Amino acid sequence: MDLDAPATHPARRSSMKRSPLHPLHNPGAPFAMNVAGVDFTAFSISGLSTYVLVPDFDACFDLGHCPVEGARLRNVLLSHVHQDHSLGVIRHRSLRQMWSLSGSRIVVPEGSREAMVEVLKAYDRLEGRHEGERPIEVQGVRPGDRVTLSKRFFADVFQVEHRIESVGFIVTERRRKLKPEYTDLPGVELGRLRTEGKELYDYRDHRAMTYVGDSTIETLHNVPEIFDAPLVFLECTHVAERDQLASPKYGHTHLFELLRFFERNPKRIANTHIVLKHFSTKYTHGEITQAFAKLPERTREQLTLLI
Ligand SMILES: [Zn+2]
Ligand SMILES: [Zn+2]
Repeated sequence: MDLDAPATHPARRSSMKRSPLHPLHNPGAPFAMNVAGVDFTAFSISGLSTYVLVPDFDACFDLGHCPVEGARLRNVLLSHVHQDHSLGVIRHRSLRQMWSLSGSRIVVPEGSREAMVEVLKAYDRLEGRHEGERPIEVQGVRPGDRVTLSKRFFADVFQVEHRIESVGFIVTERRRKLKPEYTDLPGVELGRLRTEGKELYDYRDHRAMTYVGDSTIETLHNVPEIFDAPLVFLECTHVAERDQLASPKYGHTHLFELLRFFERNPKRIANTHIVLKHFSTKYTHGEITQAFAKLPERTREQLTLLI
């Protein structure tokens, strides 16, 4: 490394850190992507906001703030209620009411349900609304629960290790296929059999996506099913060598911990594409891309960074 290069000069780096306008790793706009067959729009900066919007699932995963597109999706699945993952629920309810859509359905870890209801009620009072004017639907969930998102998709809840009560979600698509004995029947006949209560379809489940919000590396060791889906969202708050102790201390994951996990469990991650999010505001775009450039090519090919 050239120590005299201006970009890496220690004095320059520390003065950049002190400035409130130092460049951030993310320009502040969401990314629209298709990864492993799933269309989503996502945004994530640690401490500021994280959300992943998936129209096919009719769901937002975390909602640090609520863009217009987020409010069109009814289900809001919060991994935990730290403000950078949950503040958007207030606007979500408000926009859906403004558009005369059905009320927001907010899913939170069970221990956070009551306080979330209080927050929404308090906000309604702040806005001069009487109780019951705007529906409040907050569902508390525990590991092992299943949340139905639509006719085709459901989410299974699992335990996530973080500073406060947290959960993750594995989304499954239930595909249906007409049973072979009915494939040649005309539509009218199928309709008649349906009204008679006949089961016309075979069903098969396909894992679609796993969402982990903020988490320590422990969650990946504890929940092997995380990598059964072709698309997995994980956090990677810290990337710099100097921050290796920060991640376990604050309930987050460091890039080096992920790398060690990937190297020790190559089979578990073999059929998965991983989207990394929630990078700390202390990093510039260059710092993150430089850290990732040092990873083995095989690992990099499996990763997408939300920067
Ligand atoms: Zn966070
Ligand atoms: Zn958090």
